[in-house]
Amino acid sequence: MAQRSGQHALVIASNRLPVRFAVTDDGIVSEPSAGGLASALHAIRGDAVWIGWPGTVVPEGLVDEATELLARDNFVPVFLSAEEEEEFYGRACNDTLWPLLHYFGDRLRLTPEAWERYVRVNERFADRILEHCGPDSRVWVHDFHLMLVPAILRRRAPGLTIGFFLHTPFPSSEVYRLLPARAAVLRGMLGADYVSFQVGDYARHFRSSCLRVLGLDSDPDGLDYDGRRIGIGVDPIGIDTRGFAAALADPETASLVESLEEQYEGRKLVLGVERLDYTKGIPQKLLAFERLLEREPERARTTTMLQVLVPSRLDSTEYLQQRDEIELLIAHINGRFGQPGVTPVEYLHRSISRKALVALYRRADVMMVTPLRDGMNLVAQEYVLCQSAPGPPGRWRGALVLSEFAGAAQVLPGAILVNPWDIDGVAERLVAALELEPRERRRRLETMARRVNALDTHRWADGFLTRLGRSARAYRRFRPPPEAEGAVRERLVRRFARARSRTVFLDYDGTLREIEPHPDLAAPTPEIRSLLRSLAALPRTDVHLVSGRRRAELERWFGQLPIHLSAEHGYLAKAPGGEWVPLLELDLSWMRPIERLLRRVAADVPGAHVERKSCSVAWHYREAEPEYGTWRARELLNDLGQHLTGAPAEILMGRRVVEVRARGVDKGVYVRHVFPEGKEPTRFVIGFGDDRTDHDLLDALPAGSVAVHVGGLRPSGRVSARAREHVHVVGPGEVRELLRELVAAARQAAR
Ligand code: UDP
Repeated sequence: MAQRSGQHALVIASNRLPVRFAVTDDGIVSEPSAGGLASALHAIRGDAVWIGWPGTVVPEGLVDEATELLARDNFVPVFLSAEEEEEFYGRACNDTLWPLLHYFGDRLRLTPEAWERYVRVNERFADRILEHCGPDSRVWVHDFHLMLVPAILRRRAPGLTIGFFLHTPFPSSEVYRLLPARAAVLRGMLGADYVSFQVGDYARHFRSSCLRVLGLDSDPDGLDYDGRRIGIGVDPIGIDTRGFAAALADPETASLVESLEEQYEGRKLVLGVERLDYTKGIPQKLLAFERLLEREPERARTTTMLQVLVPSRLDSTEYLQQRDEIELLIAHINGRFGQPGVTPVEYLHRSISRKALVALYRRADVMMVTPLRDGMNLVAQEYVLCQSAPGPPGRWRGALVLSEFAGAAQVLPGAILVNPWDIDGVAERLVAALELEPRERRRRLETMARRVNALDTHRWADGFLTRLGRSARAYRRFRPPPEAEGAVRERLVRRFARARSRTVFLDYDGTLREIEPHPDLAAPTPEIRSLLRSLAALPRTDVHLVSGRRRAELERWFGQLPIHLSAEHGYLAKAPGGEWVPLLELDLSWMRPIERLLRRVAADVPGAHVERKSCSVAWHYREAEPEYGTWRARELLNDLGQHLTGAPAEILMGRRVVEVRARGVDKGVYVRHVFPEGKEPTRFVIGFGDDRTDHDLLDALPAGSVAVHVGGLRPSGRVSARAREHVHVVGPGEVRELLRELVAAARQAAR
């Protein structure tokens, strides 16, 4: 008997549990539910707990019985009310996210109320998950129904290991951004340590959406967000190969194959197996078959298409219309090309048993899998397995016609690929498939079978969990667990409060103030000014604002405050009430030609502009089209390298800016100006920074200082970790909170 709550090493969460309940007069009837995910995860569960919805509204009086029944299999229910079933599952999931993720942008049916439900049901899932998590649990969240869950979990249990896998496609950012909650959904997914997709294209689209919607740059394998490194991966899902091989080897299957052989003797069988769904391209497939019969009517005598249509969402008028359309088309083709005793298209609108399905896969000469979009498509893999594994006669017989818009197309190199919209093309490829040489059929099936066996669901799950573990560990290596971090923070506040005198170095943009789309918009808020004022008002406390900005801006924003200012990455300095002075003597003869080059390139790139400072010149492209901007920046980098050979200047890559600066200038110059090397201060010194230019600042802090890393900034590794203490905070909001805490503690201690 399983626990109802308590800690589990692995917690799986998906919208549907792998069982479906029906409520009858006699109570609850439970049966295994169909679907790709259910068969995929069935095999790997071990002692994991699985949280999800049992697929129907369970009346209040039967909740205990239902919970009891599920607990026997380590399933934990999230019950949905009738309204939730309609608004969350029907509207938000099936009528909005499903079409959006499959590129059907014109089908979105979202209302604000339905989205509100989506958010609340995601919160309920998170509640349930947390009831079953211990500090070392791993949580694996599945699919588009639960896209907000990772971030909710992260907020409530920051140390948890969380993975997210999307079973559907992730569309191009041009389609994705139609979603009103596009930013919240991306942030939701980014709560995970590892976010993974069926194929590389979906991962690429996800990264591009993160860039275009949230302004987040990424690498192919991950991105930095919220002070964390999030792994991005590709884990194409496979099938339960052992389960299918066993069904194939079953004597009952053999006799089913035998009767199919008799039934279709002398005929070629073209098979289609789909859930009723507009993404599956069934009408287009039928039109292609009709086109084939138009061209070669005699094929009607030798070829039968069998369409198995698994019922789905029959409560939706749109789906019923789709079914009617399919049935009309089939009737039309049979009316046009049928003869007594000849029915070109046979049709089953129902679920069929695993063995009956396997027998059909074995018998079929051609399998047509032609979705308009499909995350993976397991039917294609199942067909390959049933054509290639030992068992009843008919091995190596078939050929697979596969849509290039199914994820499966990227993992099954032996398939005959088609564009399902190209009716003539599909008809031609179908002929080619029917006529394929036996040796060529076998060669293609063998190639695909190797891939299908390698993608097996057990390996898929193991691979995902291994990569999740790796991503989570990599992140934890540079950021300690929140429990340990709490202790570091407390010690810091104590040391700061007790210190007799203190020096605080603060970077501005991205550290004290959130980054804005344009630098002019990032002016200090009244909160920031008052915070700086109260920090500087503490006894024997110096505050230094060390920025890459120009002196005029710092003067305008902070000139009236009793703090030290440093402009242009440490080149210029000004004490409170004093004059601006340069800290270095520089050769700036390279600047004019470089400025001319940058202006030339800026003229070519809409949105880019050039900024000239005292000892540097910068090419900004944050308002340019992000990918084009990045590409031109890379090209510019090359050109600059050539132009600057031998010049006393260096190139810096910042956040969407390429800057050329006189060599020798960095924020460390300023720190060393305040604390000349060799003279260790007796003061308490703390520095805050968020980007690579702040490494110079943090690295130059005297021994024994505290370095506060904001956002994803990791220690540079150039200075021994023992020389200073490292603290990590997630962003400017947390920096300000920490500063307020420091001020309060120091005031308290001074009393
Ligand atoms: N399937 C089923 N009952 C049937 C016919 C098929 O459960 O009567 C299974 C089929 O074996 C496959 C799954 O349904 O595992 C369909 O998965 P696929 O990825 O092809 O499409 P999805 O329905 O998940 O979009």
